[in-house]
Amino acid sequence: MNTKSCISSSLIAPCGMNCGICMAYLREKKKCPGCNGSNGNIPVYCVKCRIRNCEIVKNNQSGFCFECEKYPCLRLKQLDKRYKTKYGMSMIENLENIKNLGLKKFIIEEGIRWTCSKCGGIICVHRGFCYQCGKKNK
Ligand SMILES: [Zn+2]
Repeated sequence: MNTKSCISSSLIAPCGMNCGICMAYLREKKKCPGCNGSNGNIPVYCVKCRIRNCEIVKNNQSGFCFECEKYPCLRLKQLDKRYKTKYGMSMIENLENIKNLGLKKFIIEEGIRWTCSKCGGIICVHRGFCYQCGKKNK
């Protein structure tokens, strides 16, 4: 198993999204640094995201939504539903895994889950294929 994953803990957004598998992060031009980054290449949708801008999560210890007393709030549930339906991935499931396994283990599991079995590249969650060789997920 190839473990040279480029997924790191700084790429996990407060909502549980793994920015390392996002098409905005994987693209060549105007590469997004991920939700925890701060440069101008973050898509408007994410810049305006109410979870990313939530004062509660910004100030809690873990930096993740599961710590919040409103967890899972309506915004998170809506985001989660959209991703489950469209992309077969759940932010809430990710957050539960981070809470239960710890961030370090979660990162390792994510690396295994999203690494292309053919070339070791990263499978894009939005596109459903590997950015390096084009292999489809599943
Ligand atoms: Zn590949």
